[in-house]
Amino acid sequence: MDVFFIGVGEACDAEHGNTSIHITTADQVRILCDCGFSVPHTYFANYHDPDLLDILWLSHFHGDHFFGVPLLLLRFWEMRRTRPLIITGQSGTEAKVFSAMDLAFPGFRAKLCYDLEFHDIEPGAGHQVAGVTLHSVQTDHSQRNLGILVDDGYNKIYYSGDGRPTEEVTELMQNSDLAVHEAFMLDEEVHHHGSITGCLKLAEKSSVKKLALVHLDRNFRRESASVIEEILDANPSVILPVGGTRLTL
Ligand SMILES: [Zn+2]
Ligand SMILES: [Zn+2]
Repeated sequence: MDVFFIGVGEACDAEHGNTSIHITTADQVRILCDCGFSVPHTYFANYHDPDLLDILWLSHFHGDHFFGVPLLLLRFWEMRRTRPLIITGQSGTEAKVFSAMDLAFPGFRAKLCYDLEFHDIEPGAGHQVAGVTLHSVQTDHSQRNLGILVDDGYNKIYYSGDGRPTEEVTELMQNSDLAVHEAFMLDEEVHHHGSITGCLKLAEKSSVKKLALVHLDRNFRRESASVIEEILDANPSVILPVGGTRLTL
């Protein structure tokens, strides 16, 4: 699998953009995980074929993970996409996407020239979508958020969205090849958010091979750069990606 980091920041991070990753599976299925305010412009700066994306995954409905969806869909329409787009997330995703579209671009939904196929991916058994197995798990966040494990039969990638990990997250992530996890601050200072120390413990408990820390508070990231650097030096399997980082598993 190939993972491209579109953005790695929190809601207000002008330097790093909103956190979003683009996954290409071994069988060339393309999955965009989250689509916040800043994501469509970066997405279209990197991907020029409107029919390339197979699946959009939405972890939750905070704006930095979701409010780019109307522009993504509008731009696909403008570029004359023809293939259906599969949109996945927790139950209720379809209604949220339609209300965001109607608010952003009234009347546009009726003009779409490609189909939207919604699949609810609730925790429990894995779901087969476009030949990929998706397992979701609830995290501890201020709004209901689902983390997602993407399994293409060769590798497993976990993407947290927002929130502190739960016991169920530790179980689901076991032995995965890569975890892309929200780490808002150093320790557990902020309720309903992950932290660097929490992520390190989680990665150890679940024997994750590589851990990518994202969605750091922008001031903490800047002011504590040397502390973060020391942690990375001491933990070679942990990385701090930036927008444009690409990992091949
Ligand atoms: Zn967020
Ligand atoms: Zn959130």
